[in-house]
Amino acid sequence: MVLMTGEEYIRSLKRRRVKVFALGEEIADPTEHPLLRPSLNAVAETYSLAHEDAYKWLATAESHLTGETINRFTHIHQNAHDLVCKVKLLRVLCERTGTCIQRCVGWDALNALYITTYEIDAEHGTSYHERIKRYLEYVQQNDLMCAGAMTDVKGDRSLRPHEQRDPDMYVRVVEKREDGIVVRGAKAHTTGCVHSHEIIALPTRAMDEKDADYAVAFAVPTDAEGVTLIVGRQMGDYRRVMEDWMDVGNYMYSSSGHETLTVFDDVFVPWERVFMCGETEFTGLVVETFSSYHRQNYGGCKAGMGDVLIGASALAALYNGIMDASHVRDKLVEMTHMNETLYSCALACSYEGYATPSGAYRPEPLLANVCKLNVTRAPYEMARLAQDIAGGIVATMPSERDLRSEKVGKYVAKYMLGKAEYSAEHRMKAVRLIENLTMSTGYLVESLHGAGSPQTQKIMISRQAKFKEKMKNAARLAGINLE
Ligand SMILES: Cc1cc2nc3c(=O)[nH]c(=O)nc-3n(C[C@H](O)[C@H](O)[C@H](O)COP(=O)(O)OP(=O)(O)OC[C@H]3O[C@@H](n4cnc5c(N)ncnc54)[C@H](O)[C@@H]3O)c2cc1C
Repeated sequence: MVLMTGEEYIRSLKRRRVKVFALGEEIADPTEHPLLRPSLNAVAETYSLAHEDAYKWLATAESHLTGETINRFTHIHQNAHDLVCKVKLLRVLCERTGTCIQRCVGWDALNALYITTYEIDAEHGTSYHERIKRYLEYVQQNDLMCAGAMTDVKGDRSLRPHEQRDPDMYVRVVEKREDGIVVRGAKAHTTGCVHSHEIIALPTRAMDEKDADYAVAFAVPTDAEGVTLIVGRQMGDYRRVMEDWMDVGNYMYSSSGHETLTVFDDVFVPWERVFMCGETEFTGLVVETFSSYHRQNYGGCKAGMGDVLIGASALAALYNGIMDASHVRDKLVEMTHMNETLYSCALACSYEGYATPSGAYRPEPLLANVCKLNVTRAPYEMARLAQDIAGGIVATMPSERDLRSEKVGKYVAKYMLGKAEYSAEHRMKAVRLIENLTMSTGYLVESLHGAGSPQTQKIMISRQAKFKEKMKNAARLAGINLE
């Protein structure tokens, strides 16, 4: 059983022959590239934490398959305590790094497939569940980082997969062979993919029989023949490439993970790595289960990043000389209230979780969706308050190069000073952290669209809101006879 350290994890990635492109160029060793290194450091923390005495209880778990100690990011949740630990783990890691730690998507994909394959086998007598168990054991034994690739590029959103003019807008099976399948298409926004050993692909929506070729779930190594990863451009990537680390704000981890356009150009997948192939009636279940897990996460991870934003805002207030102003204290309290509300929702759906027939535990879906819908809102308001406290400098501040310049550095150091007891450099660093959190991918856009755009949560909430029962109860109390 391997429980890798952060350094061992990074070394293990160097053995891959992964095909990665960024800014139009192929990257020979993505583990050393300044564009990607900060987000790699963030994933590495998921490995390091498992070796820290204070956090071993949280960052590791006992495998229900082998009884051995594994990294929690490869665990199948066995009870409500496991679900609660998941939320706490995400908060600790995201507070520590101030960014997306990228390892939760693959974890959620494993759990969703564990549950769904059990149900498919019960209905069809297939052997997908045994396959996912064997695959899971492989992931646990080797402590692998798995990307979760669910979102297809989707083309025209008003059309179903088989109706698209280009049939490759959703990942599909183009050939079935005796030894496996061949898949083609592309997934969008795949978080942490370049830093992953494995990609786990799932269908992105509920489908009917006409979409049978698209009802496919599978796993491939990131360096499988035919897989190409194209890294998404982000605000601030120029600062990383130029290694202007002070201007990056969060110099160790950046304030975003990274995402890829993940292309499958006729990729062969052996049968033992195929976990759904044509069972369209189970696409809804896998999407809904994955979404519940993933929407649960956001009350942990974004609360961790929110902790960083609150801290940076308080620092900016201190350096600006306004820490004792009552409206500033009130804004910091407002931010804390919103942040803890997100965390509370994630804990609530975990405590209210339940066992599925497969034995795996899942979060309560209504509360998980409420959690994520709150996350599509509160971070935007928190960002507004943080920028309010920081001042306009959050958008207009000179660069680190100007601060270090022989010619103008003295002006920057003199005029960027706030309260005289502190240095201009410290003020600039705190403000840069706010800038990067409130204008980058990792905190805001991910809060909005990650785990599904807000409307998808509203649809799920409306399905589970029990309006009829509520009407009946209101009628009873009001003395209305509905018969
Ligand atoms: C930072 C980040 C990280 C992410 N990480 C991952 C990841 O690791 N793995 C993964 O699989 N996905 C990931 N995602 C993808 C995420 O789940 C999607 O962004 C989300 O599901 C929305 O899909 P979309 O981006 O294609 O937007 P769209 O689906 O194009 O949505 C745009 C708007 O169109 C509306 N819309 C869409 N379809 C319809 C329709 N048929 N009718 C009416 N309105 C419609 C939506 O409600 C929304 O308002 C990530 C996204 C982000 C931003």
